Amino acid sequence: MIKILKFYQDRGLKIVKGEGQYVWDDKGDKYLDLHAGHGVAFLGHRNKTVISYLEKQMNEIMTLSLAFDTPIREEMTRELDDLKPNNLEHVFLLNSGSEAVELALKIARKITKRRKIVAFKNSFHGRSMGALSVTWNKKYREPFEPLIGPTEFLDYNNIDSLKNITEDTAAVIVEPVQGEGGVIPAKKEFMKALREMTEKVGALLIIDEVQTGFGRTGKIWAYQHFDIKPDILTAGKAIGGGFPVSAVFIPEWISEKIEEGDHGSTYGGNPLAVAAVTAACKVAKSEKIADQAQKKGELFLKILKEKLEDFKIIREIRGLGLMIGIDLKVNPSTAIKILQDEKVLSLKAGLTVIRFLPPYVINQSDMEWAADAARKGISETES
Ligand code: PMP
Repeated sequence: MIKILKFYQDRGLKIVKGEGQYVWDDKGDKYLDLHAGHGVAFLGHRNKTVISYLEKQMNEIMTLSLAFDTPIREEMTRELDDLKPNNLEHVFLLNSGSEAVELALKIARKITKRRKIVAFKNSFHGRSMGALSVTWNKKYREPFEPLIGPTEFLDYNNIDSLKNITEDTAAVIVEPVQGEGGVIPAKKEFMKALREMTEKVGALLIIDEVQTGFGRTGKIWAYQHFDIKPDILTAGKAIGGGFPVSAVFIPEWISEKIEEGDHGSTYGGNPLAVAAVTAACKVAKSEKIADQAQKKGELFLKILKEKLEDFKIIREIRGLGLMIGIDLKVNPSTAIKILQDEKVLSLKAGLTVIRFLPPYVINQSDMEWAADAARKGISETES
């Protein structure tokens, strides 16, 4: 029998169903899902609006490339219009975060006619060749070198390091909160200085919001916390309400310079993906998901800080909206395993962080459940 790659086999937990912020295993046990498929299920598992849009679309037409217009595409553009990143009124739909990053890098090179890309230490932008070139972790990069270069990695949140952004830079790519790198929010002064520097040298600023975007951090787009505007924005995960979709947003002046054939994707923007994004936009607006993430994120942080304040092995509990990390002074893997035994799914970030990426429908008693489970996990790690 054909096998899935060995490291994705026998993980010890077989999930058979999801609903809202919960999933169930094959034994019928219920879990609080703060892993959410690496943050994809921000609108909750099996969101009703997303299902109804997908069902309707499945009954009309499922398969069609971008070559033809569809009513659902018209509906999506209307719905997305008031959620789009401020100045970026053109969108290209793709299928994964890495693909979105790949296109953003291509656009930057074409527009500026420059080659160098600047990224930051601890960054994560994906694992396709281009996206991997701007991903920090050497373990992911080295076996596949030479990658696409030149690439330079600067210190995140260090304004002084920005002087290395020079006139030969096509683009700087940055996460407003580093996700995989350890849930590290950018500082406002840093993002403002970055924006100024890129403008000064004529480099494009790509803000990678694959993980932070679409409400997760308490604003629809996390860059909105920083009083700046991107030139290109990449989105993924939450934007499809659970369906695989990613997006690249660009402004008019860039879109005018893109020619047919510069990029394409058979599945990108297929009717089901477009229906999912349309539904996700409806939910985002009717449920005010960003406001909810803001309020619930604050509450969750407060509960975690209260319940975990006495642990010496905690370096910091931090986050923005519903993107939260408990940074330990040690490897968090044992704690994450114990959280799972307590029926709370979480994920590792960086080398030392327990990361929570809850669906926006999480409630206070879920937060207490998670904090108690974390208490148990961390105290067993400490002892
Ligand atoms: N960019 C960021 C900021 C991400 O967090 C991720 C995924 N964790 C990606 C890009 C890559 O997305 P995907 O796995 O969908 O290719």
